Order: sequence, then C-alpha cells, then structure tokens
Amino acid sequence: MRSTQYLLSTMKETPSDAEIVSHQLMLRAGMIRKLASGLYTWLPSGLRVLQKVERVVREEMNRAGSIEISMPVVQPADLWHETGRWDKFGPELLRIQDRHERDFVLGPTHEEVVTELVRKEISSYKQLPLNLFQIQTKFRDEVRPRFGVMRSREFLMKDAYSFHIDDECLEKTYQVMFDAYCRIFDRLGLEYRPVIADTGSIGGSTSHEFHVLAESGEDAIVFSDGSDYAANIEKAEALAPQQERAAAAQTLELVDTPNAKTIAELVEQHGLAIDKTVKTLIVKADDEAQQRLVALMVRGDHELNEIKAEKLDGVASPLEFASEEEIREAIGAAPGSLGPINLDLPLIIDRSVAVMSDFGAGANIDDKHYFGINWDRDLALPTVADLRNVVEGDPSPCGKGHLSIKRGIEVGHIFQLGEVYAQSMNAKVLTDQGKTKVMTMGCYGIGVSRIVAAAIEQNHDEYGLKLPKALSPFALGIIPMNLHKSHRVAQLADKYYQQALEQNIDVLFDDRKERPGVMFADMELIGVPYVIIIGDRSIDKGVVEVKHRASGEKHEIAIDAVFEHLA
Ligand code: ATP
Ligand code: MG
Ligand code: MG
Ligand code: MG
Repeated sequence: MRSTQYLLSTMKETPSDAEIVSHQLMLRAGMIRKLASGLYTWLPSGLRVLQKVERVVREEMNRAGSIEISMPVVQPADLWHETGRWDKFGPELLRIQDRHERDFVLGPTHEEVVTELVRKEISSYKQLPLNLFQIQTKFRDEVRPRFGVMRSREFLMKDAYSFHIDDECLEKTYQVMFDAYCRIFDRLGLEYRPVIADTGSIGGSTSHEFHVLAESGEDAIVFSDGSDYAANIEKAEALAPQQERAAAAQTLELVDTPNAKTIAELVEQHGLAIDKTVKTLIVKADDEAQQRLVALMVRGDHELNEIKAEKLDGVASPLEFASEEEIREAIGAAPGSLGPINLDLPLIIDRSVAVMSDFGAGANIDDKHYFGINWDRDLALPTVADLRNVVEGDPSPCGKGHLSIKRGIEVGHIFQLGEVYAQSMNAKVLTDQGKTKVMTMGCYGIGVSRIVAAAIEQNHDEYGLKLPKALSPFALGIIPMNLHKSHRVAQLADKYYQQALEQNIDVLFDDRKERPGVMFADMELIGVPYVIIIGDRSIDKGVVEVKHRASGEKHEIAIDAVFEHLA
C-alpha cells in the first residue's frame, strides 16, 4: 500500500470524548469513526486488524471441527416467541417491523435461528454431533454503549453452536472448543484467563468466560495464585463462606487499598452505591481526607444509623459523624469544595462501584486490606450480596492458593446449554433405539471486534499501537527520506516495496511529501512493527536503517540483507 493511495486518517490530538486508551488510539490511528452511539465505521487500518483477528478465529474454528455458515441478521419474532426470549430479553433486543407489520428482531445472538435450521436439517443421531459457526454482525441495544468498539451496539461476533445426542458428547465438544479458544487467544498474543462464569440469562449449566486482563476491564474476576482456579466475581461470591455473608449484612466496611485508585477517583468515575439495608458504615483509611470523602458520599439519601472512621490498623479515629452538618463542620467544607464531589449529587447511580467487607489480610498486599469493586454492569443496584463478595487474599475455593482480583475484558464466552433451546423449539432426533430424543446443545461466542480494542489495551505505548505482528495493520513500513528529490532513494524504496508485495508482506510505503517526523509518527501510531528508513547518507555506506517498534532499536543493515534480517 502506498500512503498517497491510502486513507491514513491519523490524528495528533487525543479526542476528548474517548475515555480509555484503546478507544483514543483507535480514533487517533484512523481505525474507526463513530457514526452514531454504538455504531462505528471501520476505516482501512482498523479493518485490517479486525480481519486478522477474524482469520485466526476462523482457522481455529475450522481446526476444531466447526463448520462455517452464515445466518441472517434479521430474524422473525416467531422463533423468539417459541423460546420465550421475546419477552425475557428486554430492551437490548431491537425489534422491528416489515411493511406487512410483521415483527422481527435484529439478532443479538443466534440460538433460535440455528436451532430452527438444525431441527429441519437433522433427523438422526447419525448426523450428530454437529458444530456450526459464523462470523457475523450482531446488534444489541446496549443501555450504555461506550469505549468505542469495546461495547458497541453493532459488533462482530464469532458464534458457534454444537448439537449432540447426549450431554457426554456435549462435554467433549465443549472441551475441544475450550482448547480452541485458548489457542486463539495465545495466537493473538493476549494475556488472558479463562474463568468460571455465571450462565445468566442464556441458561444452561456449565459456562466459562475468557477475559483479557486490563485495568479498563468492566468485569472483576478472582483467581488463585496456587492453581488454575478462576471465576467471575458472582460465582466466587457464591462460594464464599456463609458467616462472611451474615457479617456483612448489617455493617459495611469501606477499606482503603495501597495500590488501587483512591476512593475519591472511583467515586468520581463510577458513583458509589451501598445497599439500603446497611445500617452501620465503617470507613477504613489512613488518609483522613478519604475517610471524610467516603463518609460524605454515602450520606445522602441513606439511612445509616452510624458512620465511623477508622485507621487501617483498626484504631478508631476521632471522625464520628452523626449528621451531614457535623460532617461539613468537621471538614470545614462547602458543597462542591471536595474536588468534583458535590454534596447535592445523588449518591446512588445505577452502574456502581460496590465494596468491601472485613475479610482477612491479602497475601500479596502484606497485611493491608483492600478496596474492592464489582463492575458487573448487568446488575442494577448492588445488593448486600454483591457488596461483600470481594475476597482478595482469601483461600481459594479450590483449596489451593489464595485469591486475587483483577479486572478483565470479556472476549469469549462458552456455555453448555443442555436441552433448554432444543426443548422449547422441539428439536429432536431419532436415537439408535428408534426413539425420539431432544438434542443437547452448546454455544460459543467470541467478540471479534471487541478483541481489537482489548488487544490495544494490552499493547500500546505513548506513541501508539504496539500490536504483535499477527495483528498489526501493516507488517512492514518503508520511509524514504527525500523521496521526491533523490533518485537513488526512490529506486531503492520501490525495490523494497515490490519485493515485499511479492512476498505477501503487508507493507506501507510512505510516498507522501511529508516531513520525516510526520512519517515516523504515523508509523509509530499505527504500530508498524518494522520500518525501513532509506536515505542518501546510509546508501553511501551501503546500508539502510531498520527500526523495530517493540524495542525502539535501530539497526543498520546491508542493503541486500534487509529481508533476511526481517525474516
Ligand atoms: P458483556 O458482559 O460484555 O455485556 P455478554 O456476556 O452480554 O457481554 P455474550 O452474550 O456472552 O456477551 O456474547 C459473546 C461475546 O460477544 C462476549 O464475550 C463479548 O466478547 C462480545 N460482546 C458482547 N456484547 C458486546 C458489545 N456490546 N460490543 C462488543 N462485543 C460484545
Ligand atoms: Mg451484555
Ligand atoms: Mg458478560
Ligand atoms: Mg457473556
């Protein structure tokens, strides 16, 4: 690709409406543009990355024995009535009508459609198991689309569905798909964890999510430092000891952590919600400003009997408030004087930060407590049950090691659905005994477009993207100095360009009349892993420079040895 014939669309400035780094960089690197809330156009550099993800996913699905099909985005409502999801799915399901006033939906997922297909095509156990997948656009009318393609309304998903004569067979395919997912995320160079997941509204029994670890992740996951045990926070909480639940019901402790963001920051970003049944609040923090701040935040329309502030070592501090007036007096503050926090703000918002409990010391934070958060957006207001579920440092439920908590981006989700859909849609086959039997089913999703954002969250620096070669929009860049004046430079640049094309290397040849600084900045921003820099002075020495994006190192390479060096 020649830059003059390409749509580079890079920008210098960080767009102000993009909160997380992948969203900022995807805009700056000219990968996506917003059309409307949750709707994005993929520009050529973005599409290149998306297609690279897609390719890896497709290859591994084929390898796992899944067969590619393509189902319509628009689905008749009848099928959704059959499974009962027309009513259950809620406003995330976009419902539309055709000219005959017949109801349809824009597919948020395809269990109904694939089951409709299979019940018509498959009649005998001999045709099972069957594993079908597609890579296709989904639509979900997300309550809060955000972070660019991380949580968009229209997005690209790989969804696979397997059909079996019994659960034993389903379990085998589930394992094959689990392994395929691990290979996919390994090949994409992501740092990820499979975690035990709640089966939620889709139904079924066993389920795992695959999370890319990143600070900007919306989910909180716990995992053990002594084994492979990992779970999403809801599940982990269900396994937590009973007495901790009882203890948390009446008394709430907000506990500071030395390494997390300050409470103030969290409150500012996400709001702070505390269950109404909590009557006593204990704020633990060594920093008095934080104690006061949290105390203020939770007053509002809460009916707490008591707020106490304590140091982390448990020693009560003099801050004991009875009324808001007293708090104000104690801190000498007017509304709004505590940075962005305003006393008049509603203190409970729907998507929440939830908190704490008096769990023991964490193994990896040396005898200090922590401040825990529950990011699950699918919960409305957190209940007490949601508030006491963070168990960093607790023994792992699997008996090996201790739990730690990290934030994750859900990039994949697999389910053993069992008979739920096949039963309601009457999808049956004949067994070897000649009897009819409801099929049992698995489903397997990957957020293809979300992976692009997640990969950038993990692979960037201050200059731009630093995606692994398998994902970067271009594998090789060519920057000629003085291209339009030096015949020698032009000739060599063109030679390299042709050679790269012949070798099927994704190459970007910057043939613009731009200053070198601009060309370097663009190559770094879109994260081209290797850039060949050609100038008269180096040609005199019989070399060119090759710059490696990941290490930042530059090497002089003999003119004829460049491609060997890259290989
Ligand atoms: P989330 O919890 O993030 O809302 P989900 O659990 O609703 O995701 P699934 O129904 O499990 O999503 O869909 C399979 C995969 O599709 C998810 O693991 C995720 O990677 C991706 N995905 C889901 N919703 C979105 C979205 N709004 N934008 C981009 N990708 C998404
Ligand atoms: Mg969702
Ligand atoms: Mg989820
Ligand atoms: Mg999910």
